[in-house]
Amino acid sequence: MPWPIADFRSDTMTAPTAAMRRAMADAAVGDDVWGEDPTVARLEADGARWLGKAAALFLPSGTMANQVAIHVHCRPGDELLCEERSHAYCYEGGGIARWSGTQVRALAAADGFPQPEQVAAAIRPDDPHFPRTRLLVLENTHNMAGGRVAAPARIEALAAVAHRHGLLVHVDGARLANAAVALGVPATSLVAAADSATLCLSKGLGAPVGSLLAGAVEFVAAARRARKAFGGGMRQAGVLAAAGLIALHEGPALLAADHARANRLARGFAALPWARVDVAATETNIVMVDLAAGEPGELLAHLRAQNVLAAQIGPRRVRFVLHRDVGDDGVDRCLAAAAAFGRTSSPGFS
Ligand SMILES: *Cc1c(COP(=O)(O)O)cnc(C)c1O
Repeated sequence: MPWPIADFRSDTMTAPTAAMRRAMADAAVGDDVWGEDPTVARLEADGARWLGKAAALFLPSGTMANQVAIHVHCRPGDELLCEERSHAYCYEGGGIARWSGTQVRALAAADGFPQPEQVAAAIRPDDPHFPRTRLLVLENTHNMAGGRVAAPARIEALAAVAHRHGLLVHVDGARLANAAVALGVPATSLVAAADSATLCLSKGLGAPVGSLLAGAVEFVAAARRARKAFGGGMRQAGVLAAAGLIALHEGPALLAADHARANRLARGFAALPWARVDVAATETNIVMVDLAAGEPGELLAHLRAQNVLAAQIGPRRVRFVLHRDVGDDGVDRCLAAAAAFGRTSSPGFS
């Protein structure tokens, strides 16, 4: 293998740093299901402050954080509204139906964020024929839209419509720190209008495991009960929270470099004759490349031969995600390998 692997498949592909591993080894712990782990308590307190909510809960994954939130907000037979490519709807194993018996009304939005009028039009009248429209789920940044961001005013406008009709609002903030950094606003301003919000510590922020779910004190108490029922009560979880604290406090400052590298990667691909990239829509750490010629599988194999990994996420679409373990060198190698792709694999190029 000529070079270290540059892994663009996901920003979950980060290894805990030496400082995280030391903090994990040294963490003060107790049984968190009994409420006795001081490191988890500290992470939950700091996480609540970072998200601007009264309380927060530490969970094993962003998936469980979303599903617990939906479970607390909705009853069986309720309906929630979300964008049609939302993670909570499409990529969590059907969890909304499995765990909450709630149905989904999916809205189309090119950049991942429906218009307030779309939300208003989708809210069902109070009539026994209909499900009760109960929850609006927003995703910021929006993963499948290519890491797009919505500014505070847009979130506030959407939440205002939802609240006016008696709905609650949940923000899937798996990459909320990326949104805050890209917009230059505090994360609190992005979720102030929401009733609950998540943050993944295990994506670009670099922790090996864990997510936060924040909201009002009563909401988090109910979420804590649901987390136990979902099997997410963890015992000496301080060993994980110790890494999470470093991710929360030191991770966001590193994200601007990821965004700059994503922009450079996007511009590099856009210059290739067979690649289509919306550079202006590359707002954070995700680069979506559509192939106008050649097969995605062949591109991935070609890159892999140079120790560059990416993921196919559509019939002609390949996703590259920047994170702290891919540096400038990884971007250089990716672009050099991509430039050679069109030259070496002629069959698909007519
Ligand atoms: C990754 C992700 C999640 C869930 O995270 P896991 O920790 O992998 O379960 C939720 N929402 C979005 C938008 C994500 O990208």
